[in-house]
Amino acid sequence: MTIRLLGTGAADGIPGFYTANPVSRFALEVGGKEIRTRAAALIDGSLKIDLPPDTLAQMHRDRLNARDWSAILFTHSHEDHLAVSELQYALYPFTELEELPCTIYGNAVVLRTIRERYPDWPLELVEFQSFQPVARGDFRITPVEANHVPEEHCHNLIVEREGKAILYATDTGVWSSSSFAFLSGRRVDALVIECTEGFMPTDYAGHLDVETCIQVVQRLRKEGALAPDARVVTTHHASQGGARHCDLETALTKFGIEPGYDGMEVVI
Ligand SMILES: [Zn+2]
Ligand SMILES: [Zn+2]
Repeated sequence: MTIRLLGTGAADGIPGFYTANPVSRFALEVGGKEIRTRAAALIDGSLKIDLPPDTLAQMHRDRLNARDWSAILFTHSHEDHLAVSELQYALYPFTELEELPCTIYGNAVVLRTIRERYPDWPLELVEFQSFQPVARGDFRITPVEANHVPEEHCHNLIVEREGKAILYATDTGVWSSSSFAFLSGRRVDALVIECTEGFMPTDYAGHLDVETCIQVVQRLRKEGALAPDARVVTTHHASQGGARHCDLETALTKFGIEPGYDGMEVVI
């Protein structure tokens, strides 16, 4: 399987939309891996994870076509993950299509948001239930309950195909004991995990910083949630965290964690 990280930034991207902090200024100057659009990913060219406001630019950059998606999997309803207005461009009059060529999966709040915006559209919407796997073609997708906000069941996603597994965990926080127990012994082959707050932890428990990200990864390794040779890659970085990509390399690589970047492909 291949997971392509289309975006690896937190809600306001890097450089942050209205920020002028050192990380944003450095990114403007240097470009390359320091530039981060809003977090999203694509698995095997077919399963699209989240639809942030930067989706069109990400597709142009990587020469991708949204018609190749068989499903859009939403992690939660925050607007950096669900830019609901972007869905309108899939159908008539913007295209000749009268039906969306893919199925949409998400929690109850995600599906309600989409349904309220497009009440008359012929959409195939499937509600994710935490810890309940669903089949999509030869993929198996299992939503894992995140610890992000109390208002909705935010999900991290295990995607399996042909004996391999990827865990995509953005907007994660430190999992509850039931989520850790669910992940224990799963031996996933790749983990994409948030590191939103960088070197500046805050009181908000719904995101990870460098230190808690390392702790979570170490716990997952200890509990057999990761295969011994699993790739571990970060995403959802905020400029306010004070961590440039080059700083993250220094801080994380020695723990077997690779800082992710926009356009990165992980093949397992
Ligand atoms: Zn987010
Ligand atoms: Zn969020």
